[in-house]
Amino acid sequence: MNGLEKAIKQSGFRNELIESEFGLFCDKCNNKYDYYKFDNGQVVKDGCDCELIEHHKQQKEAFFKRIERNKIEKIYRYSIIPYDLQEATFENYEPQNESQEKLFNICKRYADNFELKNKQSLLLQGDFGLGKSHLAMASTTRN
Ligand SMILES: [Zn+2]
Repeated sequence: MNGLEKAIKQSGFRNELIESEFGLFCDKCNNKYDYYKFDNGQVVKDGCDCELIEHHKQQKEAFFKRIERNKIEKIYRYSIIPYDLQEATFENYEPQNESQEKLFNICKRYADNFELKNKQSLLLQGDFGLGKSHLAMASTTRN
């Protein structure tokens, strides 16, 4: 099967060839290719591997993202952090009173000034529902 037959087959036989150029050079994949354009707008570059390369690149990226995601999920599975706190940030903490506002400011200042070279601890004490866990989680995910 020659390039044109292949291109027509790829277009599904239904469309008319309206443009073709042969022996073109793709400076992205460094391949010679034949160019076909059909009346439905479909373009076939027979010999150019760019689409294939892009497809492989995306597959590879998706693969590594999946591995990264699995790693993170595994860490959470073995951690004591409850699921609903995984998304806790300073931005989605809503202080309900002055005491929570104060707690928020202390934790944020702590996280903003945290340095690995000079590690400091912060002890949170208080009643249920103040948002200690939320703010502790927010502090760990701060970049
Ligand atoms: Zn190419």
